[in-house]
Amino acid sequence: MAMDEINKAGVTIPPELQGQIAITTLDKIYNWSRSNSLWPMMFGLACCAIEMIITAASRYDFSRFGMEVMRPSPRQADIMIVSGTVTKKMVPQIVRLYNQMSEPRYVLAMGACASGGGPFKEGYNVVSGIDKFIPVDIYIPGCPPTPQALLHGLIIMQKKIERQKLSDADWYKKDVDNEIPVPILGPDLIDPRKYALIKEQTHKPAFQVVEEVQNGDE
Ligand code: SF4
Repeated sequence: MAMDEINKAGVTIPPELQGQIAITTLDKIYNWSRSNSLWPMMFGLACCAIEMIITAASRYDFSRFGMEVMRPSPRQADIMIVSGTVTKKMVPQIVRLYNQMSEPRYVLAMGACASGGGPFKEGYNVVSGIDKFIPVDIYIPGCPPTPQALLHGLIIMQKKIERQKLSDADWYKKDVDNEIPVPILGPDLIDPRKYALIKEQTHKPAFQVVEEVQNGDE
């Protein structure tokens, strides 16, 4: 990073010291170091994962942006790249991994499937986007997105991190619990956050539920 970019505190540096010292804000230096050492979690779900692997390989080489250390453990990763079709079977595992990542953590939905279900949206075994379960910071369109698109998404992620402030960061606040209840996979996927709605629907007469579905109320 150029000295001019680091000198953000609005303090004039004497000419004899220019280029030798830098005065900056805590937010700037903190975000600069975090955004340039994002460690992605090493996992993939489907075809998009191949593009992610290519992005890490020599031609595109996302280590140029400080992201080469892909971690197989969520406890050592900052960013989860959800690359591929999100099946109901995988959702409990993805949410559990997300919960095991330490704050600050970020999620990038790579491709049409992770963002909204993609070509398999109507499939009985596929969820319409991982954002139904965990908060997504960046969406990358495409089926599959190219390595350039993934790089672009990661650079946008860095810019987003650079705008964060220590003073209002969620992970330094007391009593903020960002843990997501792990969904339960039975005959279908149950989101524990929707127990009340599921209970209400279960106690309705069947004909009423059918009518609501036909009218598009549900
Ligand atoms: S978005 Fe396309 S390439 Fe990516 S996982 Fe889905 S079907 Fe495969």
